[in-house]
Amino acid sequence: MNLTLSETAAALQDAKTLVITAHVNPDGDAIGSSLGLMHVLRSLGKDVTVLLDDDIPAGFSVLPGYDAIRRSVEGETIDCDLFVVLDTMTDRIGKVAEAVRAPRVLNIDHHHTNPGNDKEDLYLDATRAATCEIIYDLAKEMNVAVSKDAAMCLYTGLATDTGFFRFSNAVAHTYRAAADLIDAGAQPNVISEALEIKPMQTVKDLGEALAQFELFADGKAAGIFLTQEQTARMASTEAFIGHIRVIDGVDVAVVLKCKEPNVCRVSMRSKHVDVSRIATMYDGGGHIRAAGCTLKMPFEQAKTTIMAAIETAIREGWIA
Ligand code: 5GP
Ligand code: MN
Repeated sequence: MNLTLSETAAALQDAKTLVITAHVNPDGDAIGSSLGLMHVLRSLGKDVTVLLDDDIPAGFSVLPGYDAIRRSVEGETIDCDLFVVLDTMTDRIGKVAEAVRAPRVLNIDHHHTNPGNDKEDLYLDATRAATCEIIYDLAKEMNVAVSKDAAMCLYTGLATDTGFFRFSNAVAHTYRAAADLIDAGAQPNVISEALEIKPMQTVKDLGEALAQFELFADGKAAGIFLTQEQTARMASTEAFIGHIRVIDGVDVAVVLKCKEPNVCRVSMRSKHVDVSRIATMYDGGGHIRAAGCTLKMPFEQAKTTIMAAIETAIREGWIA
């Protein structure tokens, strides 16, 4: 069922014990919104656990509460009044799904591709650049003064989901929220400096990836296709796509990583084409200009499949 902002605030306020989770392969918005909501709810005296089933990149250790993030343990069960799933539909949370038992599930998200379902409550606001921006809305709705700790976490998701306030999803409300969070104690320079630090090997891996990028669709698309051997070797590939999306004339950028013999992860970014429509064809999702999916097929087949889908989208002008 779709909830309003005030119904969502009431659901949070009614619960005493809450478990918060977000999507696997967590990014700044997933981690920032989980920790930000944790701080907001703790200031209301609630018992809150953040549980994420994945590695948390070390750069986020600058966020207050980073050490409190629990990892799901197989066989363990946690009971709570309300299970909150952030920044994704509820099927991308890994083993946390089996570890938490709650009478009510509340999903809070900003992806327009989230279809919701009839068993769980959904608050979806696709006009917000980040789930962190929605948590900021909720704190206001609940009349909670945002602490410095919460502000650091919520600012992080605003920054990372907008490419540090460069993408079209950053609108006046996003900047106002950011300004309020800075007033509350968020330190933008501390966050951006912590997040830009990379191990030297990651910069070398970027060099390797850029040396093999391919242009296709008459130069309107660019792709980096990493074999299973390369994917296994490279610790972080997150930044790669940003370097090919800037190529003059390129509308769609794609990075494909072969994780297992029949499992390839796809990330897409675009200037015009609705890449969420491509991702949705393969059970993925995301935003118009940033989306992803998993192709359950071998590397070469996955590569030709996604290239053909992107070519079609460009040729047919899938513009939202
Ligand atoms: P990224 O390329 O950074 O992994 O993801 C880009 C956007 O698409 C993010 O908002 C992310 O949450 C969403 N996304 C990526 N992969 C998937 C997927 O497999 N399923 C869904 N529903 N969304 C995805
Ligand atoms: Mn997000």
